[in-house]
Amino acid sequence: MNNDIEKVLFTKEDIEAATDRLAKQLSDEYRDKRPLIISVLTGAVLFTVDMIEKMDIMAQLDFIDISTYFGGAQSTGQLTLIHDLTTDVKDRNVLIMEDIVDSGHTLKFLIDLLKERGAKSIKAVSMMDKPEGRQYDVAVDYYGVRVPNEFLVGYGLDYKGYYRNLPYIGILKPSVYQED
Ligand code: 5GP
Ligand code: MG
Ligand code: MG
Repeated sequence: MNNDIEKVLFTKEDIEAATDRLAKQLSDEYRDKRPLIISVLTGAVLFTVDMIEKMDIMAQLDFIDISTYFGGAQSTGQLTLIHDLTTDVKDRNVLIMEDIVDSGHTLKFLIDLLKERGAKSIKAVSMMDKPEGRQYDVAVDYYGVRVPNEFLVGYGLDYKGYYRNLPYIGILKPSVYQED
């Protein structure tokens, strides 16, 4: 698995430093708000577990799965709710936890849904922010690291379902794609 990585961009230590910093900041800002943390399956699970472990405040956790279905061209990619929340978000202070925000499509979909359901406040927390990929007008309120416009794997990010369990964030070797 490690042999398939061209370059490591962020080590386990870099990731730990980023989650330490974010968890401290969120704990300070949400101490009296009893936030509902919404983790976006599947990629955000690793980040979410690290974060909730490090946040020493009262918080609840729920999961949502939103997936892209492509009807031919990439640009027709439509989002569908695969697994819904079990918690009522009305009047809740919501923290969305994402692995990465690229185009912003997933985040926009989720923010619109939570607004419609009456959330009191909505903030987005993402381990990675890829600002060059942005196509939708959404803000990442808290991010761990900024990443370049490359296809990354590790710490939750997959290629065909694999590599999510790499403890670092890296770029896949082109030979891995060419083999498929
Ligand atoms: P967005 O809706 O912001 O365009 O993209 C969100 C989703 O696209 C992420 O949750 C992730 O699944 C996928 N994605 C975006 N950039 C990357 C990347 O560099 N590597 C991988 N593996 N997935 C990515
Ligand atoms: Mg995701
Ligand atoms: Mg994926």
